[in-house]
Amino acid sequence: TQKPAPKPKWLRVKLPTGKKYTELRGLVDKYDLHTICTSGSCPNMGECWTEGTATFMILGNICTRSCGFCGVKTGRPETIDWDEPEKVARSIKLMEIKHAVITSVDRDDLKDMGSIIWAETVKAIRRMNPTTTLETLIPDFQGNTRNIDRIVAVKPEVVSHNMETVKRLTREVRIQAKYERSLEVLRYLKSSGIDRTKSGIMLGLGETEAEVIQSLEDLRAVHLDIVTLGQYLQPSKKHLPVKEFISPEQFKKYEEIGLEMGFRHVESGPLVRSSYKAQKHLT
Ligand code: SF4
Ligand code: SF4
Repeated sequence: TQKPAPKPKWLRVKLPTGKKYTELRGLVDKYDLHTICTSGSCPNMGECWTEGTATFMILGNICTRSCGFCGVKTGRPETIDWDEPEKVARSIKLMEIKHAVITSVDRDDLKDMGSIIWAETVKAIRRMNPTTTLETLIPDFQGNTRNIDRIVAVKPEVVSHNMETVKRLTREVRIQAKYERSLEVLRYLKSSGIDRTKSGIMLGLGETEAEVIQSLEDLRAVHLDIVTLGQYLQPSKKHLPVKEFISPEQFKKYEEIGLEMGFRHVESGPLVRSSYKAQKHLT
């Protein structure tokens, strides 16, 4: 078997420091707050938390899907916690989060696919944190518009749904998802009046430059506003291998191509995660 290539220097990051970071880290540990930032050991924690941005996951820790790149556990999902919306809203208040990103596992086991808890979470956050802005990073809800409408109705400032990879690799990377269906979800969100729609693609899974550009074109065709491009990193040996480390120059090139196509924001770089610098996308 081939040994994995060592991480290039542009992917090595300093451990986060700073007063705000230490304070928040303390709160997260003390109250057992569930953020993706800590559970996924995101390299951008120092930066995001200092700016008042964090990502929270709802609907439990176990997903009904099993995407090849994702570190979240797969299996029989937990029962719904109807207090979860309040808990998340309280965490946001404690952490003094100015811009919150909410995401969830996929709940294909539920009739509403989790969309009711989704909407309740947004409402609870709004009640308790009226000045906090929100991005909801939603699943595809199997393209079911009744479920998507529940998100639209609570009007998050940004609604995102990640394509994760190019068309050819979708079946391998996101086994239960479909490229066209995800595009359709993004098209539907925009046509329903969502002001800012957003999507993300991970690079380094074996896609070609032409395929990345095609994905950007497909996203523009559904009137997407914001796109993020980042390096895929393998969460464990059981996950899909990294095929390639994309250079910072190549990321820059995609950024320029994207901006020329007319996206409102293009966030493209090795360490970019879909919620990286999310606050900036409100402008
Ligand atoms: Fe958290 Fe996302 Fe920022 Fe990482 S990029 S620290 S997950 S908000
Ligand atoms: Fe991970 Fe989302 Fe795929 Fe579930 S649906 S395995 S949480 S990427």
